[in-house]
Amino acid sequence: MGTKILMIALDGATLDLLSPWMAAGELPLLARLFAEGAGGTLLSTVPWATPTAFASLATGTNPGKHGVYDFGKLIGDDYTAFVPTNGRHINGRSLWKILSEAGLSSLVINMPMTYPAEAINGRLIAGIPYPSGSPQLCHPPELLSDLARQGWALERNASDDLGGSYADYYQGLVDLVKTRGEAMAWMLQQDQPDFTAVHFLEPDQAQHRFWQFMAGEPRHQPNGPHTDAILRLYKVVEAAMTQIIAAVDEETILCVMSDHGFGPTRHQVWLNNWLHQNGFLTLKSGTAVRLKQLLYRLGLSPAALREAAPERLKLAILQFFERQKGRALASEVETEGAAQRKGIMDWLTERLAIDFHDLDWAKTRAFSTGTTAVGYVWLNVAGRDPQGIVQPGKAYEQIRQQLAEALRQWEAVGQVQFCEDIWQGAQLQDAPDIIVRWAQPTTDARYFQTRFSSHHLIKPVPNDYASHRPEGMFVWHGSGVRSGLKIDADLLDLTPTFLWLLKQPIPSYMDGRILTECFTLDHSVQTIEMDVETAVSTTKPMTSAEEEALKNSLRALGYLE
Ligand SMILES: [Zn+2]
Repeated sequence: MGTKILMIALDGATLDLLSPWMAAGELPLLARLFAEGAGGTLLSTVPWATPTAFASLATGTNPGKHGVYDFGKLIGDDYTAFVPTNGRHINGRSLWKILSEAGLSSLVINMPMTYPAEAINGRLIAGIPYPSGSPQLCHPPELLSDLARQGWALERNASDDLGGSYADYYQGLVDLVKTRGEAMAWMLQQDQPDFTAVHFLEPDQAQHRFWQFMAGEPRHQPNGPHTDAILRLYKVVEAAMTQIIAAVDEETILCVMSDHGFGPTRHQVWLNNWLHQNGFLTLKSGTAVRLKQLLYRLGLSPAALREAAPERLKLAILQFFERQKGRALASEVETEGAAQRKGIMDWLTERLAIDFHDLDWAKTRAFSTGTTAVGYVWLNVAGRDPQGIVQPGKAYEQIRQQLAEALRQWEAVGQVQFCEDIWQGAQLQDAPDIIVRWAQPTTDARYFQTRFSSHHLIKPVPNDYASHRPEGMFVWHGSGVRSGLKIDADLLDLTPTFLWLLKQPIPSYMDGRILTECFTLDHSVQTIEMDVETAVSTTKPMTSAEEEALKNSLRALGYLE
């Protein structure tokens, strides 16, 4: 019987939390896996964002080849059409597709960026982001209904409504973990494939919400109800892992990994405000835009309002804005019931915020978008961008150099890089031109910023919040794994190592290396010369309903404003 692999992905798991908890005896399963296995820090992709990291894990390639740089991308003539990225946007073959073609079977459950579900040799249920209720969520098509008959809903995730209160939300995460653990054990008891991968988004979501309550954090209260919410969730995750591991053969090789690490956020940056102040980005000169700018200068930005203003002040601002703009807005409120339905704040944010509609593209040389912890700057390039003005070639290089130099003078900035310094491949054409790494790991842009929700360049985060870090974790465990080996690796190393463990040839385009030192096995290494296929764009385009559902899912997960 050949080697089998079980990969358990714990989204956002960080040794910064796990190591002390393992040492204190709080997480005995993970502690045992590290003591008996080989593992350490797993360096994520740039950016250290869930869709990019999992697209790299699926394909074994860097973003320059697979083309996924973020949760979404901008398209359209006015630069405002945000398209949520999903499995369709990954260029290249997935590991489970490669295994299928080699006659090996897979079970792939809730792995991010697997929507729409691929027809593989085995079973697959898509992971975030996906539109709920879509018929393309699983393969074979009856898989979800088979699970539903057992009482398990694996098409649910943390972007579904888990309840508004912290307590309800936490319970929702616990239920999702338990459901997935039970369903996985059941599926593995029916049939054990050669390769199994299952993803738990819940650690990431628990860390986003509950980090603020941990010891040393601003909202910490000794013995408060949420102080140890993250640790309690990891204990539930360990229980689910125990169920899953019990369902596989003893000689199965286990890999527990995370796509990125995690840590607190202290400051939020607005890169577009910097580009505006430094003359790279120009706003239109119309009355509405001037009015919005005036309000920002008075401190009445959407961000400031959301944080601080009492309802009375919000109403006063609304009335002020109505007087300036005429009665049309007031009647819109009454007729649509918008203020009542969505809350005055949301309504105001939509109308008061300066956004990409307010930019004078004919005078804008650079702009920023992105949901990730690194800052993305695009030059507005003629022939590439719809209203591009920067000429490719010499002018492009000059402006890019000038912009990078200026950015380096800003104290919030740590490192400024060009796309080709970080990524390599044919999809570099879709990459941002400049990538900014912040001086402090606690600085984050937080949202896909086509909206200028503040007039600040950088500012402390009012409600403490946590976000991604480049350092994830991994550990191998099982027969043939070196015991007690402490080693760091790159996320890109996992995919060729899986193929090597399964005695499959490694496509030459894969970017990582085989982690042979983690094993006592003497498998030979076979490489096959191959180019990355340019495949995915041939699939059906997204419908607008599908697109809207994907955006809602990203909003609920906190990646889109
Ligand atoms: Zn993640």
